[in-house]
Amino acid sequence: MYDRNNVFAKILRGEIPCKKIHENDYALAFEDLYPQRRIHILVIPKGEFSDLDDFNSKASNKEIAEFFRTITVVARKLEASSDFSGYRIISNIGENGGQEVPHLHFHLLGGEAVGKMLSPRKQKNI
Ligand code: AMP
Repeated sequence: MYDRNNVFAKILRGEIPCKKIHENDYALAFEDLYPQRRIHILVIPKGEFSDLDDFNSKASNKEIAEFFRTITVVARKLEASSDFSGYRIISNIGENGGQEVPHLHFHLLGGEAVGKMLSPRKQKNI
């Protein structure tokens, strides 16, 4: 079940601030508070969806289309205002996926080489 007290729900309600990059009826994009690359933006849907699985099973086709289009709109906006050609999109889902905030979000990371997709798997001791 969706937790209305999560930090992104509070940002959407205007209860805590964010550094807004872009907003429309379906999505909000803002700077990550703890950037992991020179540019690190989060794009979230305005509806109450805990992760991508929840979004794809409950959102309308319009919500899905507009949300995903917004990601590209945000990338174009970043490209126009800074060095943001080539970037990585990440969406973590659930505990094994490393998700901390239970409101669907896509990380846009760039402005420099972001490196390998994952760090190498730790060697198991035999
Ligand atoms: P995840 O681990 O995929 O759930 O990512 C959650 C992200 O939210 C992390 O990169 C955090 O740095 C970021 N974050 C947490 N609180 C805030 C906040 N108040 N404003 C902006 N970003 C935040």
